[in-house]
Order: sequence, then structure tokens, then C-alpha cells
Amino acid sequence: MTDAESRYLRIEVPEEQPEERTVDFREVLHSYTREEAMLEAQRCLQCALPFCVEACPITQDCRGYIGLIADGEFDAAARLTLRENPLATTLCKVCYHYCEDACIMKGRGVPIAIRHLKRAALEFGNSDLEYVPSAPRRERVAIIGAGPAGLMAAWELCLRGYPVTVFEKQRAVGGQAGAIPHYRMPHHELLIDLQRFRHFDLTFVTDRTAGVDFTPESLLAEGYRAVFVAIGASKAGYPGIPGEHLPGVLPALEFLYDVNQGRPVKLGRKIVVVGGGDVAVDSVRTARRLSPGATVAMAYRRTRGESPAGEEEIRETEPEAIDFHWLLSPSRILGTERVEGIVFQRMELGAPDHSGRRAVTPVDGAFVTIEADTIIMAVGEKADLTGFAPGLGLKIGNKGWPEGGRPGYSTDVEGVFAAGGRSVVHAMAAGTKAAESIDAYLCGKAGRPVEGRPDPFGEGVPPPPVPEGYSSPVWKP
Ligand SMILES: Cc1cc2nc3c(=O)[nH]c(=O)nc-3n(C[C@H](O)[C@H](O)[C@H](O)COP(=O)(O)OP(=O)(O)OC[C@H]3O[C@@H](n4cnc5c(N)ncnc54)[C@H](O)[C@@H]3O)c2cc1C
Ligand code: SF4
Ligand code: SF4
Repeated sequence: MTDAESRYLRIEVPEEQPEERTVDFREVLHSYTREEAMLEAQRCLQCALPFCVEACPITQDCRGYIGLIADGEFDAAARLTLRENPLATTLCKVCYHYCEDACIMKGRGVPIAIRHLKRAALEFGNSDLEYVPSAPRRERVAIIGAGPAGLMAAWELCLRGYPVTVFEKQRAVGGQAGAIPHYRMPHHELLIDLQRFRHFDLTFVTDRTAGVDFTPESLLAEGYRAVFVAIGASKAGYPGIPGEHLPGVLPALEFLYDVNQGRPVKLGRKIVVVGGGDVAVDSVRTARRLSPGATVAMAYRRTRGESPAGEEEIRETEPEAIDFHWLLSPSRILGTERVEGIVFQRMELGAPDHSGRRAVTPVDGAFVTIEADTIIMAVGEKADLTGFAPGLGLKIGNKGWPEGGRPGYSTDVEGVFAAGGRSVVHAMAAGTKAAESIDAYLCGKAGRPVEGRPDPFGEGVPPPPVPEGYSSPVWKP
């Protein structure tokens, strides 16, 4: 094969076979070998204008680490990755790889496997590194919520020398990343990432709920100089249909947290998941693994092509003995004492709406009943703002998380900021922006210049150059 031909052959990572992987929670995707990673990295064109870097919400220099892997320099690749991405061990398993969608090789159907190469960098290079805080500052910052947005903001602020306390209502940190099933991300990844935070002045206070035990305003009154509200979208959504609170109906997020944390979960033999996003797909694959021999189905009101779940995830799910029903919208749940079935309204695609997405409309009189003893509702989550003062002026983002309605994610209360994101890496990008606003606010109050993010390893290494014409990286010189 010529060099030119090999450039168009993406090296796929091996995966567990469907019959074996659906009986337990073993990780489905394996990693590259060292040699495979180098070959895959050598396909990269090292574009002068890397669309991949620009598409990454945290502007990770993926072109840089791919180039280092191509030369077999795995230690340097790991260091470069971790320099701007403190949750890289998590992201190399779960990121929706927006970079790959923008890769120039995608046009030929063979984008570089940027996420799998991140995993190779961290597995074959030395990733046991430590972040170094700058000289300590006096202003303590409080963060509410230990999900990716809160953790990224903590990293940014601790690097700049601020002492940070993170308040979290659950016992475990990680936010929704803690609900991602273990067949996609074995649970220790986030803890591996947090190990690198060990020299920070960072305190986690778990089992404490804002709105119940304290409020952003009470934290300011206690002496915190700024508060970042990063509470994500943790309240289950329901479609608002008769029977939705019958025994046997489980909210998806709670179901997935329970499974990951080893709490007992009771499923029947006829399981239907309602929804079409990633949470629905994770729920249906989890139910399959917990209930061998049961019928497991997923129903969504639009088509496969319009499902918000990623194409990759649906493709991985299809061989796992799951019945997919498209164009079915939940109408009512049957049963008196507990769930006995669910009635769906059949839908059809109509004309495109103002966003270009085709509307779905009910087909007159067409209903479908599916027998079920367990229904998992995965129709979206939203922020739980109980106990938060309306005076904060929080806006709800399009996936249900709250954010400050003013520039820089600031809220209507001075010193309080709020943000979140629709994926782990988007939440991290929001955490960075919020931390930059908090730093600018505190520097302004103290009358000192804003210096931006220092070198995370304390060696004064300048940030990677960004080609002309591109938006600047979040890392400021
Ligand atoms: C099942 C599932 C699978 C997913 N898979 C992926 C994936 O593969 N890739 C990907 O990129 N994204 C995935 N996501 C989305 C991703 O996890 C979220 O976009 C991201 O975690 C949002 O981060 P966040 O910090 O804004 O909010 P969250 O992660 O929701 O974190 C908010 C934190 O605040 C805490 N909190 C809430 N209210 C309070 C309160 N009142 N007081 C104190 N603490 C509070 C919560 O307990 C939580 O820990 C998935 C989500 C789910 C549910
Ligand atoms: S963090 Fe995600 S989007 Fe960014 S380079 Fe890595 S895989 Fe791509
Ligand atoms: S766009 Fe693709 S080919 Fe170009 S530098 Fe990025 S990964 Fe390499």
C-alpha cells in the first residue's frame, strides 16, 4: 500500500463483541497499541489551519499531540494534552469529539481518531503529572456543584492561586459524568484526573445542598469573595402524561446513578425507555446488561437520523438486542397499581421548521401500545432552582442548566456567576469562562492586573501558538 493510500485507512480500535459485552459492564472500546496509535497519528496532515483545534470547545491542541504521537513521543504528547485539559482521562473516553467532525479528513470519510489518540497519549505517555498553583491569593472562592463546569473552574482558579471550596449535594463528585455507564467509562477515570489537583488549596464539601443548607448570598456573607453556581440539570423531566408517576416508572438519571453507585435497582422483564438522546441510549444499554433475556425497547418521537444521540452511540447500540421504535410519542401509561404498558401516538415528519429541522406531527387516530412492566423516562433534565433567590436572575440554558444572564456569566447579584454545558467539554469551556470572569472581577476589586492562566506545570512554558485567523485559545499569555 502506498503512503497516500494508507492515509485514507482509519485504524479502528478493537471492541468487545455484542454477545459478550451485553452480559456485564466491561468496557466496550479497547485502546490502540502503541504502533497502531503512531500509524493513525501519521495519517494527520498537520494542517496549517487546524479546524480540529478550533472546533474543540477548550481549544485543545490536538494537532500538537497527534504530531508528537506520530513521532513516538508519548510523554510529550501526554504533557501537552494535560497542559490545557485537566479532565483529559475522562474526556479520552467520553468526549463527543467535536474536533473529529471538523477534521479535514472527515470530508473523505476518514477523520483522524483524535479522541482515541488522546487516550493513547495518556496510556503510553507519563500522565502521572501534578498541577502547580501560583503564589497564594487571599480571596477564597466558593463553587456550587462538582460537575465538569465546577471542576474546570476550580482548576483555573487554583492555578491562579485562589483557595477554592466546592460544595456538592451528592456524596460523590463528577456531576452527570458520574452517571455515564461503566461500559463507556470505568468509574476511576475522573479520580485519576483529580489526583493531578493534589497540590491545590481545594476543599470538597459533599452532602451539602445550596438552597437548603446555604445560598450563594449566605456564602458571600460568610466571607467568600465570589461564588460560581455550577449546578447543572439534575431534576428529572417528565412528558406530562397520565400514569407517569405509577410504580415501575423510573427517571433515567436516577436509574443510571444508582447502577453506577452499586445501589439496588429493580427492573422487570419488559422494559421500555422513552427518549432519544444520549441518556436514553445509556439507559437502554444499561437495562440490557442488567436484564439478560428481558425485552428491552427504546421509543423516540422523531426518526433515527434526528435523534439527539450521536450516530456512533446508536450504531454501537444496534447490535445489542434492543428494539428501536422511531416516530412514537408517549401518550399515556397503562396500569392501576403499577405499570402494565404504554400507549404511543404515531408521528410523521412534516415540513422543516424555522431552524430547518423537520417538524413531527401526530398521525390522526394512530396509536401503538407496547406492553411494559418498567418504563425509564429519559426525556430531558432541568436545573433544580429550589431555594435559589429569583433576584439572582438565572437564565436556563437550552439543555436545562442555569447560567448568569449578564456578560461573563455574571448574575444580577454582584460576585455571583453561573454556567454549565451540554457536554463534558462544553461544561469545561463554560467553567473556564466563568473562572476568567471571576478572576477579572477579583483583580478589579483588588486593583491588580489580570494575568490570565499561568503555565499549569509551573515551568513558565508559553501557550501553544494559535494560527492567524483563528479565535484565540482560552489560555492567555
Ligand atoms: C447518562 C449521561 C451520559 C452522558 N454522556 C456524556 C458523554 O458521553 N460525553 C459528554 O461529553 N457528555 C455526556 N453527558 C453530559 C455531561 O455529563 C454534562 O453535559 C455535564 O456533566 C454538565 O456539566 P455541569 O458541570 O454543567 O453539570 P453537572 O454535571 O450536572 O454537575 C452539576 C453538579 O451540581 C450538583 N448540584 C446540583 N444542585 C445542587 C445544589 N443545589 N447544591 C449543591 N450541588 C448541587 C449536582 O449534584 C452535580 O454534581 C452525559 C450526561 C448523562 C446524564
Ligand atoms: S477534548 Fe474532545 S473535542 Fe477537544 S480535542 Fe479532545 S476529543 Fe476533541
Ligand atoms: S484537521 Fe485533521 S488532518 Fe488537520 S490537523 Fe486536525 S486532525 Fe490533523
